[in-house]
Amino acid sequence: METIKAYGATAADADLKPLDIKRRSLQEADVKIDILYCGVCHSDIHTVRNDWGGSSYPVVPGHEIIGRVVAIGDGVKNFKEGDLVGVGCMVDSCHDCTPCHNDLEQFCEKGATFTYNSKDAHIDNQRTYGGYSTTVTVDQQFVLRVPDNIDAAAAAPLLCAGITTYSPLSHWKVKEGDKVGVIGLGGLGHMGIKFAAAMGAKTYMITTSPDKAEDAKRLGADAVIISKNEDEMQQHKGTFDFLLNTVPVKHDINPYLELLKIDATMVMVGAIEPLEPMNGGNLIMGRKRVAGSLIGGIKETQEMLDFCGEHNIVSDIEMIDMQDINTAYERLTSNDVKYRFVIDMESLKK
Ligand code: NAP
Ligand code: ZN
Ligand code: ZN
Repeated sequence: METIKAYGATAADADLKPLDIKRRSLQEADVKIDILYCGVCHSDIHTVRNDWGGSSYPVVPGHEIIGRVVAIGDGVKNFKEGDLVGVGCMVDSCHDCTPCHNDLEQFCEKGATFTYNSKDAHIDNQRTYGGYSTTVTVDQQFVLRVPDNIDAAAAAPLLCAGITTYSPLSHWKVKEGDKVGVIGLGGLGHMGIKFAAAMGAKTYMITTSPDKAEDAKRLGADAVIISKNEDEMQQHKGTFDFLLNTVPVKHDINPYLELLKIDATMVMVGAIEPLEPMNGGNLIMGRKRVAGSLIGGIKETQEMLDFCGEHNIVSDIEMIDMQDINTAYERLTSNDVKYRFVIDMESLKK
């Protein structure tokens, strides 16, 4: 075991502070990574605050990790020292169930090992700690290659915000000319707009914030709908082929369902909690669907990163020092970030 520096929370109502944590020693299939950058996802806050229950303290968040390989186990063939790599929301799974065999490790029947707040299957009584730390040691099958033509810091959010939005757009086969709406312009939403535009869709940003309209267009939206404006929503009733809903809290999905065409789908990725009651008529009248999606498998995450390399897609980021994390959480909670905070991990090494 090795003791390293990290930042984490020791209780749901505590600020994040410097902590020492233990990482397992390098095992045969492991890649040890020196962390350069780590994105700040809204899920980090949900876990620190125990919004979903099940948080085990200390929580060291961070699942949008970019770093350099500094050591490899004897069994590692696909990575070498110096490689630029990424780690997303998962660091392990059983490798042996039907979802794992189908490249859907996020749905592993034994439970995927998430990058933080999971049980580490390699060591007794050890929890996983995320990327708000100096190094991480990960099974080679959960390490991703980062294309060398994209900015490394701005690539960090691809590991969660990127795959979470790419996967549903790809799975529901969004194609050229489809009318696609992305609901909520935050970390996930801004990636959703970029991907939908790159896939050739006619993209609409559906936002509660009129002041984000110009940005939405710069990010690739063809048009913007202010969801609080009922007249504007009515003009688009029954016209959307696909909606991607990234709203992070309990809300009323009925106004959005009305936007869908016959047979069209809205995919929920944000609110992992009970929603306001849904009117069945909004599904029945039009054979509409509501679905959900959880990040994406490792193979698809690599496909997404390669797509970003080809299309020059990265996140719009605001770089912060590790020491600024509590202010960043306040700002993210009050909808004040364009559009992802990324921690420069050099600040933790000082
Ligand atoms: P974020 O940066 O805070 O963005 C969320 C956006 O939703 C906000 O910028 C805001 O956009 C809109 N919004 C906020 N409150 C709203 C409300 N009450 N009603 C309507 N719109 C509202 O969060 P994020 O990092 O993108 O994460 C979004 C959610 O996805 C979080 O809950 C996170 O835990 C979850 N998540 C899920 C997965 C998955 O695999 N399914 C993966 C990662 C994250 P406007 O100002 O444009 O309205
Ligand atoms: Zn995330
Ligand atoms: Zn499995």
